[in-house]
Amino acid sequence: MDNPEIIKKAITIEVDNQFINVRGKHKTFSEFICGEIKKEIKKDKNNIKWQIMLDYFVVYPTASLYQRKQTINKFCRLLSEKPKTPDKDKQPHEKSLDTEVMYLKGVGPKLALAFGKLGIFKINDLLMYLPRKHVDYSSRTNIKDLTPGETTTIFGYIKSTEAYTSSKGLGIIKVKIADNTGQLTLHFFQGKANRYALERIKAQFPKDTGIMASGTVKINNFDLKPTLDNVTYSILADDIFKGGNVNLGRIVPLYTTSDKLNIKVLRRAISTALNDYKDLIQNVLPDFIIKKYDLLDKKTALEQIHFPENQNMLEKARFTLVFEELFLLQLKFALLRKQNKKNHSLALNVKKDGLVMKYIKSLPFELTKSQKDAINEILNDLSSDTPMQRLLQGDVGSGKTVVAAAMLLAAVENGYQAAIMAPTEILAQQHYNGLVDNLNNLGVRLGLFLGSNGIAQRRKIETDIRNGQIDIAIGTHALIQDNIEFKNLGAVVIDEQHRFGVAQRMKLAKKSTNPQILSMTATPIPRTMAISLNGDLDVTTIEELPKGRKPIITDIATSSKQIYSRIKAEIEKGHQAYIIYPLIEESETLSAKAATVEAEKLQKTVFPEYKIGLLHGKLPNKEKDLIMNKFKNGEFNILVSTTVVEVGVDVPNATLIVIENAERFGLSQLHQLRGRVGRCSLQSYCILKASTKSQDAKERLKIMTETNNGFIIAEKDLQLRGPGEFLGIRQSGLPDFVISDVLRDTQTLELARNEAVSFCENYDVQDFPSLNKSVEKAITSNHFLSC
Ligand code: ADP
Ligand code: MG
Repeated sequence: MDNPEIIKKAITIEVDNQFINVRGKHKTFSEFICGEIKKEIKKDKNNIKWQIMLDYFVVYPTASLYQRKQTINKFCRLLSEKPKTPDKDKQPHEKSLDTEVMYLKGVGPKLALAFGKLGIFKINDLLMYLPRKHVDYSSRTNIKDLTPGETTTIFGYIKSTEAYTSSKGLGIIKVKIADNTGQLTLHFFQGKANRYALERIKAQFPKDTGIMASGTVKINNFDLKPTLDNVTYSILADDIFKGGNVNLGRIVPLYTTSDKLNIKVLRRAISTALNDYKDLIQNVLPDFIIKKYDLLDKKTALEQIHFPENQNMLEKARFTLVFEELFLLQLKFALLRKQNKKNHSLALNVKKDGLVMKYIKSLPFELTKSQKDAINEILNDLSSDTPMQRLLQGDVGSGKTVVAAAMLLAAVENGYQAAIMAPTEILAQQHYNGLVDNLNNLGVRLGLFLGSNGIAQRRKIETDIRNGQIDIAIGTHALIQDNIEFKNLGAVVIDEQHRFGVAQRMKLAKKSTNPQILSMTATPIPRTMAISLNGDLDVTTIEELPKGRKPIITDIATSSKQIYSRIKAEIEKGHQAYIIYPLIEESETLSAKAATVEAEKLQKTVFPEYKIGLLHGKLPNKEKDLIMNKFKNGEFNILVSTTVVEVGVDVPNATLIVIENAERFGLSQLHQLRGRVGRCSLQSYCILKASTKSQDAKERLKIMTETNNGFIIAEKDLQLRGPGEFLGIRQSGLPDFVISDVLRDTQTLELARNEAVSFCENYDVQDFPSLNKSVEKAITSNHFLSC
């Protein structure tokens, strides 16, 4: 591309800004990229990749967050590809798995374009374009043996076809099929079809041709003869019963296709590629591992995953490919960890009467056992000179901040600076407020650095950070701007780490050579996912909540009146309440409006006697702080808010949270919101208001009433929404697995992880060239880093 540096920069800014389609002076991010891609297309009209990329970026403004991330990932991959050799003639002769599909027998430029839309550019992509599932057509049923209720496939010949319009104007096509044992009629209904349309459909069923049809057997009411319901069919070409067919009479692969690409064409191409290129497919895994786990060799695995001989082989093929994929990723993690151990960082040792211990003694409560264990584990890590890379997981309200503070102070105690980065200004402010009194008493200097600070204030803090006048810098992602330089940064805490991209986390870490890093998260990630996401981190979990916490009582309500009286009851007890309005269509402006309107209505008509505060993302930061502080100090009885209060906000006296339109939230998000209450020993309540008749939504919300355990909720959320959605909204970058399923393949994941760790201990990956090459390419959540 013409302006690689500018494009890289644009992507970095977009990623840093959480994919909001950043608006520059003249254009939005997507408009800019579209313009650049168009220039490429002008240069080389035949390059379908750019054409496809353009399609993605045209819809970028309306795409979901998850899709946007995918688009940028694809784009980065495309950018990092080396330009083609100019010698075009050479390519088709040099047969390799990197050969473009265009050169495959039976595929030309036009089909290649359709393949490209599916992300298939090279032979290797085609081989790795794995079936979504398989249908077993290997056992066919004779017509005379059909049993009602059974789903099956029949093969036969078309005896006759009738097409007519019923008295109600409905188009009906009847296709009579016979095999050697009997006959049946399939019925197709066409809505309001005219005669020509019906004739056209009829022409698709020429007499005496072979047909395969699958569906559920049912008995017609009127003639008591069997037919197939929900039928799918295929007209058979002449060669069909001759065997060796990829579409029929066997376990047949189903692929995701597009309307431009017929599945049979795709099957044929994959089959050809397997045939013509199979000698080039090499094993990635070392032989001893293949033997140990009784895996197939790579070539057989690919053949069998596409066109399995039988179920057993299909399973073996899948296990082989899943194992390989997970092993590669885990090996990559293990290698990174090994590499990291070689790095030197500042060893931080804590004295008995030092800052850390003084701080812990100054707390108004006793630490829970979990908190003590976590602090010990962290201090232990810190005392060695290999950089710590630890993830601290703990449910909402489990008291992670104290643990983080201990780590920050360990750095200060040793004469270094420390930094903590939070995802929102409210949260950064809260950390600052929570720590400032305690720590100032201990002589520690804190600095709060926010993007919304005025220039003069920012300059001042920047200078103080650079000169070492600030011991602990607290801030949002403003802290990772290039102009912020630390004098001697020793420890870094990243709060709610899943809200940051990997790139952002790394950027903070790079503010010094190998600082000690602690990432914290309250979104409980199921263990399996934690391994695949954070394989390069050690994990500490805070298992318990501080003593005396009562489980939050959650219920689902539909009547506003009831809800109002419950709010009243809490306020009369001297407690406070939140009312949350959902983000509307991902637009904070609209939700701000909705919340504003509701707050006014509540104040005027429902609770004239109470003080109601309003908080939303569109308020200037100063005002947000003011409102949060007032709520914290009890000056408001009720806080009406959008989801800006979601992460980390801590007001212990609030005992009731009402969540409007609860059905619009994911379970994990609801759990986070609910975590705003139940933060002290008072009994707290959560009311989910749902305006839905959908049974699914009700089932989902019911889970919230049944458990307060964030891990169970995360697990369920993941099951219900699938990893893409689950992470797309809340997380940054789960590896894009081709075949593995983080939920289903947990056992294989454990096997692969253990094997990877032991491999890493006992062998040098450099001695296994094929493996080494693949590990380097192994997908990781670090995708964004590559651009
Ligand atoms: P989270 O893990 O969600 O970040 P916080 O660190 O914000 O939780 O802590 C939640 C609340 O619990 C805070 O008000 C904090 O002061 C309080 N807290 C933390 N640890 C304890 C403890 N051991 N005993 C009692 N209260 C605690
Ligand atoms: Mg927190």
